Order: sequence, then structure tokens, then C-alpha cells
Amino acid sequence: MRIVALAGGIGGARFLQGLKVAAPDAELTVVVNTGDDITLYGLRVCPDLDSVMYTLGGGSDTQRGWGRQDETFRVKEELVAYDAPATWFGLGDLDMATHLVRRQMLDAGFPLSAVTAALCERWRPGARLLPMSDDRVETHVVVDDDATPGNRKAIHFQEWWVKHHAALRAHSIVAVGAETATPAPGVLEAIEAADVVLLPPSNPVVSIGTILQVKGIRDALAGKKVVGLSPIIGGAPVRGMADACLDAIGVETSAQAVGRHYGSELLAGWLVDTTDAGVTVPGVEVRAVPLLMTDVTASAAMATAALELAGV
Ligand code: GDP
Ligand code: CA
Repeated sequence: MRIVALAGGIGGARFLQGLKVAAPDAELTVVVNTGDDITLYGLRVCPDLDSVMYTLGGGSDTQRGWGRQDETFRVKEELVAYDAPATWFGLGDLDMATHLVRRQMLDAGFPLSAVTAALCERWRPGARLLPMSDDRVETHVVVDDDATPGNRKAIHFQEWWVKHHAALRAHSIVAVGAETATPAPGVLEAIEAADVVLLPPSNPVVSIGTILQVKGIRDALAGKKVVGLSPIIGGAPVRGMADACLDAIGVETSAQAVGRHYGSELLAGWLVDTTDAGVTVPGVEVRAVPLLMTDVTASAAMATAALELAGV
């Protein structure tokens, strides 16, 4: 069986761990959001790609939810001592090596997809990881500009999310560059060849929503059996601040509203948590199963339910 999943960081990675257990013989391709990527200190930081790579490769810090196991932050402490900008973003010492390798390869002219493949030779995530695009796409958030009352400014998604904890009201969220970006090599081919496409419980706006904005991806999904899993349980995101992103695009934070936002043009099936049993999405088969990823066994049961709903 050939499976394609579109994924963000933590929600995507945890689900994919379960999917590998649920379908050990499947050929799995993961198309990963790169709209969160940011350049800091000259390094290209790809949080979602690295979350998926480290998690599936067994090197992630499961407590913290991001970055490397047994990480230290001595370089960051030095940056703080220099009063360097952007110390709000945590790049650990071990993680730094990944970023140096990525920088060196990008400078040598390799596209992000080739860099990702090279990094995965070490981590062996057991799935093919593809960035959604080799082109630069960066999600920005439009907020009030306090310096000039009445004005607005766009800040990088990471600044809004990590530095401000999504507490500044977002007027809109824009994936800058998405309209001209083309899918990375292999993305459309993998979707074309897939028996099923899964949307893990990733952020519907800044993870899945960004991937869907890359030209050609949504069209490629049109003829496919697509099953999604709700990242919203009982009216709240399980982890993180996805509600702030949904507010910005005028979608209520509920399993039903997110299912309807994706809609029957995209989805064949929508899995919601048992708490949300009774949710309806016109034209989409909805099933309620436990959707809390408390451990890999729970994630694997969710993946099995998604594959069953897809009928594969
Ligand atoms: P990020 O890029 O690290 O923010 O990760 P993703 O976009 O892949 O996933 C973030 C989403 O995962 C959040 O919106 C959460 O609501 C969702 N999420 C996290 N843990 C769980 C869980 O245990 N169950 C479900 N259903 N959703 C979860
Ligand atoms: Ca992310």
C-alpha cells in the first residue's frame, strides 16, 4: 500500500509514529510544511521537517516536544550573553549541527529536498520525507503595529508563535511565496501514486493549510481518497495554540468547523474524537474514535481507524 501524509511538526510526527506501527509494510511519503521555516544567524531553520525527522528517527525530545533528546543550550547561552537578536528561538547545541550541515549543503547549491534526503540518511525515519516545496515560502502574521497606532505590520510566524505565544491578535495569516512556489520533486508523483492520503491532526491553518496553498497540491488531491483526523477535541486544540490561527481565518475552534473548512472537495472521511460524536460534514463520512495521542499505541489505533475509514 502507498500512503501519503501531509504533516506539520509535533501533531504530524506523533501521528506518523503510530502510522508506521499500524501499516509497517506501507510505502510512506510525508509531505512536510515548510511555511514555518526561518533564517536565523544565517541558518535555515525547518522546524516541521526536523520534528518529523527526529521523531521518526528516534532522536526527539518527547517531553519538550521539539528538538533533540539530551540537548544542551550552551550556544544559546552565549548568544544571550552577546544580547544577540532572536534568542527567543531555541536552537540547541546538537540541533545546531543539523543546521550547519543544512546550511553547507544549501550553500553548495542543493535544494532543500536533497538536503532533507541527506539528513535522513543518518536518521532513517522509515518514510520518505519531502518538503512541500524547494521554494522559499514563509508564513507571516498581520498584527497591530504598536509603534504606530492604527497601523498594522506583518511579522514572521515564528516571531508571533514562539516569541509572542500567539497572544497578539492575528488579523490575517499569509503564506508569503506560496502562490508561486512549486511542489518539491516527487510530491505530485507520490500523491498520484497513493492509495490513500492522510491528513494527520496537524494545525489546519499553518501546517496543512499552508501545504494546500502550494500550487498543484490541492488539484492533485482532488481525485484521491483523503481522510483527515481532527486536531481539535471538545472545542480546544489538544496542544498548542491552533485556536488563535483558526480565529484569524474566521473558522470556529471545533472538530465540526475544521471538517467543514476542509470540506467534501478535499475529504472523503473525517475522524473526530469520541467527545465530538455527532459532528456532521456534508458529503464526508465522519467517524468518532479516541483521538488523544497519549502514546504510540494510541496513535497507531488512530492510524488504523483512518485507514479503515479510507477502506484500504
Ligand atoms: P506543529 O507544527 O509542531 O505545531 O505541529 P502540527 O501542526 O503537526 O500539529 C499541531 C496540532 O496537533 C495542534 O493543533 C494540536 O491540536 C494537535 N494535536 C497535538 N496533540 C494531539 C493529540 O493528542 N490528538 C489530536 N487529535 N490532536 C493533537
Ligand atoms: Ca509547525
